[in-house]
Amino acid sequence: MKIVLLGPPGAGKGSLAGLLKDQFSVAHISTGDMLRDEMKTGSALGVEIKSLIEKGALVSDELVIRLVEQKVSKDPSVAKGYMLDGFPRTVAQAEALDVMLTRLGKPLDFALCMEADTNLILKRLTGRRVCKKCGAIFHLINKPSKVLGVCDECQGELCQRADDNEETIKKRMDVYYASTQPIIDYYAKQQKLKRLDGNLETVDLCEALVKIIDENKSAHSH
Ligand code: ADP
Ligand code: ZN
Repeated sequence: MKIVLLGPPGAGKGSLAGLLKDQFSVAHISTGDMLRDEMKTGSALGVEIKSLIEKGALVSDELVIRLVEQKVSKDPSVAKGYMLDGFPRTVAQAEALDVMLTRLGKPLDFALCMEADTNLILKRLTGRRVCKKCGAIFHLINKPSKVLGVCDECQGELCQRADDNEETIKKRMDVYYASTQPIIDYYAKQQKLKRLDGNLETVDLCEALVKIIDENKSAHSH
């Protein structure tokens, strides 16, 4: 299974991938997570990335394309497939992805678009808390941890992402509509677009996606 998760911040891409990666033994490739890992090293590149992320701006196509290429072409964790979360985010990235996957002879199965209402997105992102250690996602109201500020999975410290404040979220939404939404059309033209309602809760999204995966499998098996 090789799929792209498309949709605005807060549509539930990361939560969905987090839930499904074990069920399907596929990798969850999040360019946002990869960039935040680089930030944590404190390298010059990390510092540059940090200032862009905290503004809600995109990092360069060249950099994220290189990160994804390393993963999908070399990393043993992608043997059974992957869910790409947060990439591609521009048409140039989508084109580069097609070029690399054609070269590898392993095309995408489909792109899954999930959109959600802006008010819901704001509530989800401002209440989101993320484990510093293992990346698990919680929400102050929708999915509180057992102990406030402590991860249920690993006891790590829960933090709020620097870009999860209202002002930066609005900026990220603008960037989404200007740069990322055109990709929906790009995949529709390739007849690789599927849709899910991002307003649904993660468990329901999960169930709907499992159905799409099954239908897609049987459609291609005869
Ligand atoms: P979300 O989908 O909630 O906005 P991500 O973790 O996917 O969060 O991304 C956080 C930030 O990382 C983005 O706002 C952007 O600055 C940067 N980023 C992640 N993926 C990409 C990408 N494919 N191209 C450019 N910038 C990216
Ligand atoms: Zn944790």
